[in-house]
Amino acid sequence: RNPMSVQAVLRSMGDGLVLVSASDETETLRLEAVRRDFVANVSHELKTPVAAISLLAEAVTDAADDPESVERFSQRLVHESNRLSVLVNELIVLSRLQGADPLPDLSVVEADAVIAEAVARTATLAESAGIDLVTGEKTGLLVMGDRPMLLTALTNLMSNAVHYSPAGTSVSISCVLRETVVEISVTDRGIGIAPEHQQRVFERFFRVDQARSRATGGTGLGLAIVKHVAANHGGEARVWSKPGLGSTFTLRLPQYRPAPPVESSTPPAGR
Ligand code: ADP
Repeated sequence: RNPMSVQAVLRSMGDGLVLVSASDETETLRLEAVRRDFVANVSHELKTPVAAISLLAEAVTDAADDPESVERFSQRLVHESNRLSVLVNELIVLSRLQGADPLPDLSVVEADAVIAEAVARTATLAESAGIDLVTGEKTGLLVMGDRPMLLTALTNLMSNAVHYSPAGTSVSISCVLRETVVEISVTDRGIGIAPEHQQRVFERFFRVDQARSRATGGTGLGLAIVKHVAANHGGEARVWSKPGLGSTFTLRLPQYRPAPPVESSTPPAGR
């Protein structure tokens, strides 16, 4: 895949927003404002780690005679540059999802396999946070989709569940079929989300608590990615939450059912 410059990403994301503009004039104005806010937000979010990196790089140079300081500044330099790289990667993922192009790598995906892989990816994080991951029975359900994107979405939901829950609680992942929709839910017993914030958490860069999100290395883009992955698969992302009790985030995707083999009505050749 071609690497994209940050400017190209911003441009394509802005264009994406214009493409979805509705006929209604107020909606168009609202989208314009969303787009302006978004560009301002990205600039701000990028400036913070970039400024920190340049200050730390100077500090390392100035502290050349003091190995302990060099060590300390270098560690922070690595931390800030990792943050920046996560942020840029998430912006690129989001811009791809918002582009007009259809998802490129569609295949039949087993829900059980995506769940198992997302659990494996979150296991270390959960263990260090003292949180138990609980998986439901296998279902054999299938969806047609972009496997890496689905995995990213589910991993985002699971790492949020871990980040916003206290130690000693559990996070459970379940999968059920509702009519023709495969519902994958991630339930935590964490801090929960107030009703007025529940829809806003899917907006880019919206965080209920800036400080807490930053402390966990959050970019504020995780749920925006989840929402777009769901939409690009013809599905949706939903949240149910009660402050103090916990949250359930659900990824709803159209079920894929292989067509039954067609019995041939043509007589075999040669008769
Ligand atoms: P972040 O990188 O900040 O976690 P997200 O887009 O993933 O960004 O989430 C947006 C915000 O929604 C978070 O900052 C947090 O306030 C809230 N949030 C997300 N998941 C949960 C959860 N499972 N429990 C409580 N709050 C959550």
